[in-house]
Amino acid sequence: MTDYFEVHERDGPARIGELRLADAVVTPALVDDVDADTPGTVHRVLDDAGGRWAAERDPPAGDDTAVTVLPHRGLPAGTPDEVAEAFADDYPDVEFPSGAVVSPETAGDHDADVTVLAGAPGYVGHGSAFVDALTTVKDGVPADTALYLPGVATPRNVATLVYAGVDLVDPHRAVVRGTEGRYLTTDEAYFLEDLDELPCACPACQGPRDDFDRTDCVEHNVRALAAELVRVRRRVRDGRLRDYIEGQVRQDNWLTATVRIMDQRYGYVERRTPLIRRAELSATTEDAIRRVEIQRFAERVTERYVPRFADRPLVLVPCSARKPYSDSQSHKQYHDAVQWRAHMVSMTSPIGVVPQELELTYPAQHYDSVVTGNWSANEIEFVSRVLEAYLDGADYPEIIAHVPGEGYRDICERVAEALDLDVTYTVRDHPTTADSLGNLAAELEGWDTYQKSTREHRTIQAVADYQFGAGAGDAMFPDTSTQGRYPQLRVDDSDGEQLAALAQQYGVLSLTIAGARRWVDSDVPTKTVDIEPFVPHGSVLAPGIVDASDDIRVGDEVVVRGDAAFGVGRAEMHGAEMQSSTRGIAVQMRHVEEL
Ligand SMILES: [Zn+2]
Repeated sequence: MTDYFEVHERDGPARIGELRLADAVVTPALVDDVDADTPGTVHRVLDDAGGRWAAERDPPAGDDTAVTVLPHRGLPAGTPDEVAEAFADDYPDVEFPSGAVVSPETAGDHDADVTVLAGAPGYVGHGSAFVDALTTVKDGVPADTALYLPGVATPRNVATLVYAGVDLVDPHRAVVRGTEGRYLTTDEAYFLEDLDELPCACPACQGPRDDFDRTDCVEHNVRALAAELVRVRRRVRDGRLRDYIEGQVRQDNWLTATVRIMDQRYGYVERRTPLIRRAELSATTEDAIRRVEIQRFAERVTERYVPRFADRPLVLVPCSARKPYSDSQSHKQYHDAVQWRAHMVSMTSPIGVVPQELELTYPAQHYDSVVTGNWSANEIEFVSRVLEAYLDGADYPEIIAHVPGEGYRDICERVAEALDLDVTYTVRDHPTTADSLGNLAAELEGWDTYQKSTREHRTIQAVADYQFGAGAGDAMFPDTSTQGRYPQLRVDDSDGEQLAALAQQYGVLSLTIAGARRWVDSDVPTKTVDIEPFVPHGSVLAPGIVDASDDIRVGDEVVVRGDAAFGVGRAEMHGAEMQSSTRGIAVQMRHVEEL
């Protein structure tokens, strides 16, 4: 039971939380022993009740001004499991904010508000050792305990620590480095004597250079660490820590390795990454291809999406900088030429391929990439792989590639060869020249135009497949009609009862009670939150949850069920977090029915 820590916002494994002490601490935070006096920090917490090796000790007396670290035995990293188990600490159940010291081997539910990773300095500096230790501990402890890594934070690494899921750090390492004459910044650890001028405007750095000594250096280091944490908190709140991380980790190789290894351990980050968000996704490095949002979109397009327009020609077009694509000048010209006689699919780096029905769906209208006109080998490789997977199952009568020369055409040729497909190329010079557009229109002569109702119905079905799972479009929306003007669509059943609405901002469906009932009645696995017998209004809090589907992600539609109520809402936690949390908002309810 966590009484003194609550998570408010999530950005992948990174989160904004609150340690509810007498003076509340917003996390990720810089904490220190009570009464410690490090200049430039906001001071708080962590009263260490000491080790247990010397003698059995009584439970410490704590209070709500600080987190009291419960007595523990320090075991060296790598202690065999059976030894660790034999010496496992037995944490007393206390009434005040408490911290439990764990190793990856002993991480579990110790009823503590804070989990302290023992031997943290041994993991930091080594990408795979760090990721192993961190993910093991995070997956082993309840989601609503704060993770504290003592003695490791620097201005350069703290963004990555938070990105990986660390909530609390201390200034100890920054202090030690300062006393050693190392001047820390977000990019370097300079030898103080090498600096002719100080690259900082903090109060410690304002005196004459010759007067700046190691005491000042300590103060500067801690201030630099605190300032970086402020930046990181802002990034997490904005849902944009990853964009920052991709640049920041370039300052130290082990940080770059850490982020890449985390991308390879896809599940840890995926589980914690929202399905949708408001923030724009900035794809400026090669690492962007491997981020969860991109991989998840490609995976769902190739595995869940069904090309329902495959009875007409496919027209592959390049993406546009303006989103959604259909709002762009170039895509308006393609639409004028195509006149809904074909199925338009956009090719884009780093997303892969975007069928016209999913142009609104996160992150298809939320990303921004660097356009140089040249594609890197990795981009060509990735988009080719997605396009090949997309075309492998589809059976279009004709494939038209209305794409410019560089990159796009290479990819089309590569995939055509791999799958032994005939592709017609309609672009001369540039896709929007009158010549090229004329070729495209001529190629589609003889095909008739799709009805608007058909297009919109299939758009809803495509979004349902993407969002709810393979088969959902047919199972939940076989016979529906749409009202309104795209992209603001309302989905009704044949009797005119509303089932869902297309949320224009994220390109996903918001269900009504009737829509939720269709989901439950279908064969498509329903993401369900089982609650105690009460009627939730506004939101469902974690303590009211009996069980939740593992595959729920933040931003997912969820059916909320209990003996007293049936409803539908949007998840604010992932499924495992709902199961293990005792605090915090788990679901924002949209509709609820009393039973
Ligand atoms: Zn400074």
